[in-house]
Amino acid sequence: MMNYLKTVYLLLLTLLFYSSAYSKIKVLLLDGQNNHNWKATTPVLVDALESSGNFLVSVSTSPAKNSTPLDWEEWNPNFSSYDVTLSNYNGEMWPKEVQENLINYVQEGGSFVVVHAANNAFGQWKEYNQMIGLGGWGGRNEKSGPYLFFNDFGKLVRDPRPGRGGSHGPQSEFIVQVRDFKHSITKGMPKKWLHSKDELYDSLRGPAEKVKILATAYSEKSKKHEPMIMTISYGKGRVFHTPMGHADYSMKCIGFQEVLRRGTEWAATGQVTSELPFDFPTEKKVSSQ
Ligand SMILES: [Zn+2]
Repeated sequence: MMNYLKTVYLLLLTLLFYSSAYSKIKVLLLDGQNNHNWKATTPVLVDALESSGNFLVSVSTSPAKNSTPLDWEEWNPNFSSYDVTLSNYNGEMWPKEVQENLINYVQEGGSFVVVHAANNAFGQWKEYNQMIGLGGWGGRNEKSGPYLFFNDFGKLVRDPRPGRGGSHGPQSEFIVQVRDFKHSITKGMPKKWLHSKDELYDSLRGPAEKVKILATAYSEKSKKHEPMIMTISYGKGRVFHTPMGHADYSMKCIGFQEVLRRGTEWAATGQVTSELPFDFPTEKKVSSQ
């Protein structure tokens, strides 16, 4: 009898484990090359997502720089078994097959999240740039598409003038200003909130098709209100893009983490269930983990 009860108990536990794992949003996080400290930032991204209880994150690490074609052949992430793919990758071009798999995955309704320097990657890859809307560095210039920003009068400007894509001033805390309160990612956020020390990317440029800018930050360098929280629609897929997140300490901002959770959930499901945490930053006060 004891053994029977034990078996039933174990079965129930297993069932509980699997049902909770299945109800979570499955995230595939890509890293392996970056001109930033990806080994420090990936764990912060994973923790920010998993600590909410809503996400299950698998990390797929690409071969290091200057690996052999054989090493690359062995790296072929199975995008379609995940609800959403998050890139913390900024490095060498992926093999053709991986590129095509990502395009098809998002085109057919998959979801993609791009954080900070992941928007520096693949300056010459047309579809990637359509997916992320805007990018910086990587040879980007007027041929990549317009600059996209808000002017002082709150008007969205597409500026085709010649010039390089991507720049930033010294790291600092900065104010994030919400521009769209109707979108579920920014709903309920304070109109302005103070982000922890980070790099404020300015002068990003790209195809900028089907981009919605939900929040901006004023750059002292470009003198423009630069996009900080964006959504892009690509094929049947949803893309969430934030240029914030230079370092582990930037990603420990409670504001960044909530933006990441909401953006990732929105990309995966089209909705947001995450409630704004009580310690969300205010206009005057940063809030960090
Ligand atoms: Zn950076």
